Amino acid sequence: MTLTRSQRADRLGRRLEELELWTVRRSQPLGDWTFNGDALAAGAPWPTRDGIAVFRHPDVEVPADWPLDETRLDLDLGGEGLLRLAYADGSEEGFGLDPNHRRFPLTGRRFTLSAECVARLPFGVPNRDARLAHARLAWIDRGLAEYCLLLRQLVETVRQLADHEAVEPMLDAGEKSLRQLDWPTETRNYVARVAPGRQMQSVWQLPAGLASDPDGLDEAGRASVDKANKSLVADLESLRRRYPPTGALALTGHAHIDLAWLWPLAETRRKANRTFHTMVGLMDRHPEFRFNQSTAQLYAFLAEDDPALFARIKEKVASGQWEPIGAMWVEPDTNMPTGESFVRQLLYGQRYFERTFGRRHTVCWLPDCFGFSPALPQLLRLGGVDSFFTIKVNWSETNAMPFDLFWWEGLDGSRVLTHTFNNSAGGYNAEIGARALLETWRNFRDKHHHPESLLSFGFGDGGGGPTEEMLDRQRQFASFPVVPSLRPVNVAEWFTDAHKAVADDSDLPVWVGEMYLELHRATLTTQGRTKHLHRRAERALITAETVSCMAALLGAPIAGSLEDQWRLVLRNQFHDILPGSSIREVYEQSEAELTSVVEAGDAVIADQLSKIAGALATGGGEPGMLVVNPDLSPRPLRLEAEGGTALAGDATVPGVTAVVVGDVAPAPGLSVTERTVENAGVRVTLADDGTLASVFDKESGREALADRGNQIWAYVDKPRNWDAWDVEESYVEQGEEIAAAEISVTETGPHRAAITIVRRFRGSEIRQTIRLWANSARIDFKTDIDWHERRILLKARFPLAIRSDHATFECANGVIQRPTHRNTSWEQAKFEVAAHRFADLSEHGYGVALLNDGKYGHHALGNELGLSLLRSPVYPDPLADEGRQSFTYALFPHKGDWLSGGVLAEAEDLNRPLLSTPVEGGVGTSWTAVGVSGIPLGLSGFKPAEDGNGMILRCYEPAGARGTAEVALPSGWRIDGEVDLLEDASGGAEFHFLPFKLHSWRIVQGG
Ligand SMILES: [Zn+2]
Repeated sequence: MTLTRSQRADRLGRRLEELELWTVRRSQPLGDWTFNGDALAAGAPWPTRDGIAVFRHPDVEVPADWPLDETRLDLDLGGEGLLRLAYADGSEEGFGLDPNHRRFPLTGRRFTLSAECVARLPFGVPNRDARLAHARLAWIDRGLAEYCLLLRQLVETVRQLADHEAVEPMLDAGEKSLRQLDWPTETRNYVARVAPGRQMQSVWQLPAGLASDPDGLDEAGRASVDKANKSLVADLESLRRRYPPTGALALTGHAHIDLAWLWPLAETRRKANRTFHTMVGLMDRHPEFRFNQSTAQLYAFLAEDDPALFARIKEKVASGQWEPIGAMWVEPDTNMPTGESFVRQLLYGQRYFERTFGRRHTVCWLPDCFGFSPALPQLLRLGGVDSFFTIKVNWSETNAMPFDLFWWEGLDGSRVLTHTFNNSAGGYNAEIGARALLETWRNFRDKHHHPESLLSFGFGDGGGGPTEEMLDRQRQFASFPVVPSLRPVNVAEWFTDAHKAVADDSDLPVWVGEMYLELHRATLTTQGRTKHLHRRAERALITAETVSCMAALLGAPIAGSLEDQWRLVLRNQFHDILPGSSIREVYEQSEAELTSVVEAGDAVIADQLSKIAGALATGGGEPGMLVVNPDLSPRPLRLEAEGGTALAGDATVPGVTAVVVGDVAPAPGLSVTERTVENAGVRVTLADDGTLASVFDKESGREALADRGNQIWAYVDKPRNWDAWDVEESYVEQGEEIAAAEISVTETGPHRAAITIVRRFRGSEIRQTIRLWANSARIDFKTDIDWHERRILLKARFPLAIRSDHATFECANGVIQRPTHRNTSWEQAKFEVAAHRFADLSEHGYGVALLNDGKYGHHALGNELGLSLLRSPVYPDPLADEGRQSFTYALFPHKGDWLSGGVLAEAEDLNRPLLSTPVEGGVGTSWTAVGVSGIPLGLSGFKPAEDGNGMILRCYEPAGARGTAEVALPSGWRIDGEVDLLEDASGGAEFHFLPFKLHSWRIVQGG
């Protein structure tokens, strides 16, 4: 034998190319198409590529001598679409039509065709040459097709196995099988058969008069294929006994359908419909096939769009083939949503799945999110979920995640069993082939803890899902040596097995805290308007519910659920919407939806405030103002009253309390010039360039800044990949500071003073009003930007007179501490990180916090805290962050650490100022709805119970402390025990908080 293994594999591959040219025995073109009602010739371009095109073809009849089970419909109509076949017997069938799904089986001999298509490819890419490319009936030589696929898998496998000793005998088996073929040779037919092949298509001129429909294999030929196939299967099986499977993979069918991304939401609904038709058909033909689909929102859309298909899916769920999964309303980003948003993802997701399919979920399925909040394990456990799946952590560019089957331990110590797999052949959209299977097993690091890894397969990201061929490949692999053994599973069952396998395994690795993704860091900043609206929408709904519950405690009827409004917020938390990685159309819809939520929330707040006012106002007497603090932290009396009048008095408003105030006297000591603004607590001095030259804390007698504060920098921001997603560490190497063009005093007190600074950068303007209230050391930077530059990252930087090796960043229901140094590669990779309402740098006894009302991207390096203000990539939205956006961030020097220094209260105030409404009488009245004393807590939510029985109060320990809280309610109300996130009683009522623990109690009427 003079040929190498590789040469022998090449030779098999070349023979395969020849064989495949015989797999279609006969074909018959379908040429009677209409496009939106007008005739369209085969091969013709679409008359228009706008909108949805409807293709129709009248009666098709399969030739009488073609076996139906060997007949297929081959279609490429030029885009992505939903194909429907209407059979003469009245039955119907639907199929998704896309570049990966173009060949369809038939169940009757006569039918008509229709298809709704868009001139787009699965990733939303316009098909600029959309044409009716290909339409025919094909009689497939099934035996030959089966043999060709087997031989192809053999070639792929030996190439993957490379030096394995099984390769030689596998090549022998393939060559032996080929020698058994009795192949046609007659020139005229042979040349006509091979004419469409790659090699013949490169020939200058093929012979004239080639037969258009050359003969397929004759009976002798077909019998020889059958013999070759059997010989190869038998030889492989015998080799499998010598070289048994290495490892085991559990296969779950998957069709990652991003809820919106490179296409708008309306197209997602059609994508789901197409994909789900394909999946149901595959299940009919392949009883062993298992498919998982997350996202309650997708099912809710489908129930509206195609009730008949939805009913069939329900049947498949009942039979166990179709697995709803994930427990959540969508697959959300997990860096940015607040804790109560995750609660609602689980509450409304689990409730929907239970109501619709009769079951809650135990697996959180987030294959594709850009980093994972350490708040999740506790929230998942309290939402009935004990298992977590993702593969995205394996996308980190700098450091490899060390585990792939492990306990993920959250902030509070809660754990979920977590699994990832690492497959470069499609990731979670795995192909079924030797590379994906061998690589996924090889990469499975924790195989000594559990002998099987999951692998999800099927075309995805734009939907599509598994194909018939993928299932055929699985079946064939059952005969292969070395390749891991395969079995179809439901994901939840796989996790149940894995839980059992590791139950007594004290060595199972534990990953504690955040799973930071060392990639896609710019998703914390891109599409600033959507992020800011998202924050406002979250706060508006949480506040609307809180104020509704306060009114109920005063005797108003308990308000209805805001589930419909929450669903809009949850939907826009999808992992390509909130992160800013979608196209323009998505943000037009997202901004409109989130604006509508803010308006609806504010309308509820106004309505409920008037109820509270009605209950507390005494009528007559001095006109006053009802002031409501909707959070737990006591706050200074500070707000913008009707008409925008700023008020900052000396009083404090306790948590979840309504007070009626008369005239508010300003806290004393506020003054302002063009270069200074100060109050009793702090003196701010501006440099001529508009930065802060000094922030002097009068009470502590110390300077908060180490260098000029609020430096505004514009950096060239051109990542090598993933424009909307990524910012690279090297952005700092090319930037310029933007100095002030104008500085003027714009508000002179006595409640609030302000200096407005205008900066100009090329065609853009940044207008900042530096505001100081009379009763706080918090310095607000109310920012209005009119932006017209591309591929610039804008940052605000604050060098602080603080030394600490770590900074504190708010996350969902708690905080994350991250180093301020870059000792290791893990720390170097965290050059841009998430924070919610604040980041804080504190040394013993003193600190400075950087707060915001709708930004997420931060850096903390040495003594500097920085905030990303906007960035403006061009892909996939060429106009990302173009135009106007407004937001506020703030610098807050404080004594003590961030919690004792009042950072949480200031962050709450910045994000949801005290509420107010005019009242008649009652000045001096103060009424506390829920009095929480003892250990300081954060309010996650205070909401009407979904079942109408009372209200749910949910609090969390925000800083990592332990202690007991006392909860006082108005008379006539009591705590009726503790509930989980799904509002089921969980027994008892715990008021002793451990670090970062969350507790929810049901509040009902009664003594
Ligand atoms: Zn995705």
